[in-house]
Amino acid sequence: MNAHYDVIVIGSGISSLTSAVILAKEGKKVCLLEQGPKAGGHIGTFNKFNHNFYTGAHYTGALGNGEPFRVLLDHLGIYNSQNFCELDADGFDEFVFPDFKLALAKGYEATVQNILKIFPKEETAIKKYFDVIRDAVNCVPTYMFNEKHNADKLIKILETPLKNVVDGLTNDHKLKAVFYAYCSLHGVLPKDVSMGFHALVTDSIINSPSVININKEGVGLIDSFINRIKELNGDILNHYWKSFFLRTCNFWYPSKTNIQFNQ
Ligand SMILES: Cc1cc2nc3c(=O)[nH]c(=O)nc-3n(C[C@H](O)[C@H](O)[C@H](O)COP(=O)(O)OP(=O)(O)OC[C@H]3O[C@@H](n4cnc5c(N)ncnc54)[C@H](O)[C@@H]3O)c2cc1C
Repeated sequence: MNAHYDVIVIGSGISSLTSAVILAKEGKKVCLLEQGPKAGGHIGTFNKFNHNFYTGAHYTGALGNGEPFRVLLDHLGIYNSQNFCELDADGFDEFVFPDFKLALAKGYEATVQNILKIFPKEETAIKKYFDVIRDAVNCVPTYMFNEKHNADKLIKILETPLKNVVDGLTNDHKLKAVFYAYCSLHGVLPKDVSMGFHALVTDSIINSPSVININKEGVGLIDSFINRIKELNGDILNHYWKSFFLRTCNFWYPSKTNIQFNQ
């Protein structure tokens, strides 16, 4: 451990890991302090009964060439195709409603066609909904790296609730339920979430839906971050005493607490 650091980053979730790599790439001597026994936060896993369980993030999008998550990972020097696995392009998500099922297919055109099969009379509303989504994400400079974005349009789309947009498109409650289905991903009700934020979540998944692979010890993506931080001379310190306690438990009660450490 180095006694002198330029920056101490508190926590080791994906936000902190990203900040640490950016700072280290800029030549700062960085140390991450994690209160838990291992890095990763909600992209991490815990091991119980010899199985890895996800604590949070398990799937993602925007990983295609030139898409935002991929550009970020490339910039950080973290991207490794083995950390991700593309989901079934014909039906990466399935929404199950009481009287119908809808498989979402990769790409806007395929998604629109699948929804049209169930709501053939709602072509205008369906196309308009996805046009609004594409238009919204194009306004967000940090998503599409569009420096010439229209700031007024951006503010408007961030201030308009999803519900207002959808109410203006259709009166069909079942179709509205389809348009609202991805609220389950961001966890905010249609009346409370901005159209802009909902659009970012939806667009990223539709374009390149992928699973975050886990390896035997946890999540490969976290290992890539950790290795990169170490390569850039940074340190990651977890909660020693917590780790020590859990290691002791593992030693005495291996079948009950089989907790893994990879740092
Ligand atoms: C059940 C669930 C499912 C999800 N599914 C997905 C998904 O499929 N796809 C997706 O993209 N997103 C998903 N998410 C969201 C995603 O996991 C989170 O948005 C993301 O991981 C948050 O990262 P973060 O760095 O902001 O915070 P966190 O991951 O919460 O990391 C914060 C870290 O800081 C540490 N910390 C906090 N305070 C201190 C302190 N004082 N000192 C030291 N350390 C501290 C914590 O221990 C933790 O390790 C899901 C979330 C949940 C809960």
